[in-house]
Amino acid sequence: FREIFLESCWLFPVTAGDDRYLRDTRSVSVRFRWEIHRNFLTWILCRIWKNVRQVLQWQAKDYNIENKYTYEVKSVKLLEDRIKKEGQALSETVLKVDSFINHQVDSVFMDALGADFAEHFKDAGITKVFTIESSGIAPALMTAEHLHVPLVILKKQTSKILNGNVYQTRITSFTKGTSYELTLFADYITPEDRILLIDDFLANGEAAMGASRIIEASGATLAGIGILIEKSFQKGRKRLEEAGYTVYSQARIGKLGAGVIEFLPEEEPASREEEPAD
Ligand code: 5GP
Repeated sequence: FREIFLESCWLFPVTAGDDRYLRDTRSVSVRFRWEIHRNFLTWILCRIWKNVRQVLQWQAKDYNIENKYTYEVKSVKLLEDRIKKEGQALSETVLKVDSFINHQVDSVFMDALGADFAEHFKDAGITKVFTIESSGIAPALMTAEHLHVPLVILKKQTSKILNGNVYQTRITSFTKGTSYELTLFADYITPEDRILLIDDFLANGEAAMGASRIIEASGATLAGIGILIEKSFQKGRKRLEEAGYTVYSQARIGKLGAGVIEFLPEEEPASREEEPAD
């Protein structure tokens, strides 16, 4: 900025001024005065620029603090509000959230939820984020991005892969009632890995327990499990906690039914009731 200004000052007497000054007997004193003037102007402008820059930096800092606060504290509350507004209880056990998670995906919202997971597990030494195809991919990718680690997607295969270096385990899908082989190619996990598993729903914990079997078989550590929507009246959390895993759920549903979606207060422990019959 200073250089540009100096350049323009040099140009000024040549282009805009006339060379009368140079031929003038007073030209030396005129040029001298102009030098002082120019340096003074440069100094003033530099001071102004420095102050403006400082104010801009302060504003940017304040903005970041505000943003971080929004992510940490409000995103979880926002998820509850969003479920209340757009979620549809299909039965006493199945919730439909197709408008922002499972069919249409609200990418900005997923980013906020990913930031919240990243913040929650920031001290767990996570080296990779794992998820199960396909609904967990969006929040898991955002979490991986915020933690600056890779995302690995566990695949659902219909049958066993008999050749190749793979880990596989059989899972029964909660929503579809069908079975699949949860599959991971051994290239994408090492015994040193500390894994954060992210999924959209926690019901009976079948998917998460399956993922944990694969992770343990490889020698890696399942360092945490992050869930968007936990149905606390089902047995998933109990199973996972009894197996020794840390579970963090952003929204915990205590009761589901026709037109009813009730959340557990954050501090309240999950209900330990047996799963209601479908
Ligand atoms: P779990 O393995 O814990 O029994 O079930 C979790 C998996 O089933 C999740 O990956 C999710 O895809 C699916 N799931 C379980 N409950 C629901 C639900 O109420 N709604 C939707 N959309 N998916 C669910």
